[in-house]
Amino acid sequence: MDYNWSDSMQFIVNHSVYTPVRIFCIGQNYIAHIRELKNEVPDEPVVFQKPFTSLVLPGEKVKIPTHGKNLHHEVEVVVLIGKEGKAYSVDEASSFVAGVSLGLDLTLRDVQTALRKKGLPWEAAKAFEQSAPIGEFTPFGDHLDLKNISFECRVNGEVRQKGNTSNMIFSIEMLIYKMSKIWRFRPGDVIYTGTPEGVAPLNPGDKITIFSPDIGEFEWEIVS
Ligand code: MG
Repeated sequence: MDYNWSDSMQFIVNHSVYTPVRIFCIGQNYIAHIRELKNEVPDEPVVFQKPFTSLVLPGEKVKIPTHGKNLHHEVEVVVLIGKEGKAYSVDEASSFVAGVSLGLDLTLRDVQTALRKKGLPWEAAKAFEQSAPIGEFTPFGDHLDLKNISFECRVNGEVRQKGNTSNMIFSIEMLIYKMSKIWRFRPGDVIYTGTPEGVAPLNPGDKITIFSPDIGEFEWEIVS
C-alpha cells in the first residue's frame, strides 16, 4: 500500500492558517519513561526534528515501515507555535502557543537502539514516512493549563500510556524558552513535547487511539 502526502499541510486554528515546516520533538522529558529505556536524565532538553512530510492526520492508515522490527507508540502533547520570534523569558513563552493537540512520535525502537550504540543520528528510527500522526489543534486559551494536561494512549481499547504534563522535566513554557536560545520560532512550527512511560510495540491491525479530556480523541489504524 502506498499513502498520500501533500507538498504542504495546513492547520486552521482560530481562523488563522498555519503551514507546518519544522516539527521539533523532545526526547526524554518524563522521568518514568527515561527509566524504562534505561537512559540518563538530561540537563538540557533533547531536541530532534522530523520533516513535515511525516505528519499523518487522524483517520489515515499508518503503514509499518519495513526497515525495522519494533514500532513503538509514544503519545505526546503537541503545541503549535503561532508567532515569530524568541521567548526571552519563561513567562512570555506561553504567548507563542496558538494551539495544543496530541500526537504520536512513532519510533522504530530496535533501529534507534542500534543507532544510539554507534552514536549515530536517529532519523531512520524517528523521522521515517508517517512517523508523526497528529490530531486537530485546540485553540490555546485560558481554559487550558499547559502544566496540567492529562492524556493517554489506547491500543485496541487497552490503555497503554497515561500521562500528565505536570510530570514533565522541562515544562512546555521552559521548552519554548530554552529552544529560543537556538531557534527563532515561526508560525506553524510544531513541538512534540515528549512521552510518558508505557511505550510498547504496534502490530498490523492495531487501532491506536490518543485522548485528552482537554483536547479530544484521535485514532489511526496500523497496517502492514
Ligand atoms: Mg518521543
